[in-house]
Amino acid sequence: MAQEIEDVFTLLETAKTLFKSHFKNEPNVAVCAPGRVNLLGEHTDYNDGLVLPMALPLVTVIVGRKTDGPQCRVMTTSEDLKKNSCTEFDCPLEDRESLTPGEPSWANYVKGVLYFYKGTLSPFDAVIVSSVPLGGGLSSSAAIEVATYMFLDQLNGEKKASEVNKKEKALACQQAEHKFANVPCGIMDQFVSFMGEKGNALQIDCRSLEATLIPMAFPDAAIVICNSNVKHTLSGTEYPDRRRQCEEAAKILGKPALRDPTYDELQDKKDKMDTVTFNRAKHVISEIGRVTDGVAALRKADLTEFGRLMVQSHNSLRDDFEVSCKELNELVVIALGTKGVYGSRMTGGGFGGCTVTLVQQSAVNDLIGRIKKEYEGNATFYICSPSSGAKVLSV
Ligand code: ADP
Ligand code: MG
Repeated sequence: MAQEIEDVFTLLETAKTLFKSHFKNEPNVAVCAPGRVNLLGEHTDYNDGLVLPMALPLVTVIVGRKTDGPQCRVMTTSEDLKKNSCTEFDCPLEDRESLTPGEPSWANYVKGVLYFYKGTLSPFDAVIVSSVPLGGGLSSSAAIEVATYMFLDQLNGEKKASEVNKKEKALACQQAEHKFANVPCGIMDQFVSFMGEKGNALQIDCRSLEATLIPMAFPDAAIVICNSNVKHTLSGTEYPDRRRQCEEAAKILGKPALRDPTYDELQDKKDKMDTVTFNRAKHVISEIGRVTDGVAALRKADLTEFGRLMVQSHNSLRDDFEVSCKELNELVVIALGTKGVYGSRMTGGGFGGCTVTLVQQSAVNDLIGRIKKEYEGNATFYICSPSSGAKVLSV
């Protein structure tokens, strides 16, 4: 009933076969990097707060080899892109400054990483295959960036790769997304794609950039991601508006960011700000607290408490931060009406995209069945457990 998740070895075989037929050679390097889902801590990243994502079993695989050049040649198999975009591109590599964003737009994610790569660039051929849905809120963008970075490291040799730590590499990938894809993303996606580990969530402090693995291996529970398959484009200013409102609230509170004030401090200044600004700050401050509480709950294996925090997070995003939508609310209500569900919430930026639900293994089919029956739209599902971060694969 859920989407079949193609395992990494099947993806690898597909990529190798394609590489051989397309480039008439054998690939000698292979890597993969995962997408992610955020469990708690939404809209906290740009407030210097905490987030708690996990890496998914959905991955992007890149295979390839060095060539005599002078250019790099890359192809992707993405069906979504085939419809309206060229799935191959090449670009010269002699001069990094000659790398600029352009068409096809998907190649900007690769070019951006080439540009910001901390090491020597050499000409190569590569094939990209992925099981992460594109544009579905599960960060196929970080997966392709991180896989590209890992791939370049492997072309350069392991020793060189270990000279730069994962944080620096993740930051280089973030730069690539900012400058080449024009998306002002936070650091969460690239961090967890590099640093996630099987059986663990990853708490990231978006101020200190400290990343802490939080064990989350519960054999009787599952994470079900449900894609609402809607994406509302509203005025287009929702995201910058909220960033501005958060900055405004921090300023009124006399703090560098909403990471700093307590809830009591916010209450004290309630009459100094309008209701909307107050509510935005209320969400962020309470949400950061929920990440800390959620981590404590996971450490005690208290899934009931973790689920309760997920629901609080959803309600706060819906009522105070106002980034949910009818479909996401509907999906959460259906999930919460299912026996065996610990908690459910919208995940990602909002106004569409996915929900994430923590549920007893034994109730997964019931949950999916109910959503299929009761949800007005057409949902797709992924049953996931916390998976490993980017890794080298043997070819
Ligand atoms: P999300 O990260 O939620 O999936 P984004 O809009 O941030 O959505 O990133 C999706 C874009 O990233 C795609 O439109 C495409 O340009 C690029 N991309 C991601 N994965 C691939 C891939 N396997 N092959 C080519 N481009 C990809
Ligand atoms: Mg993205």
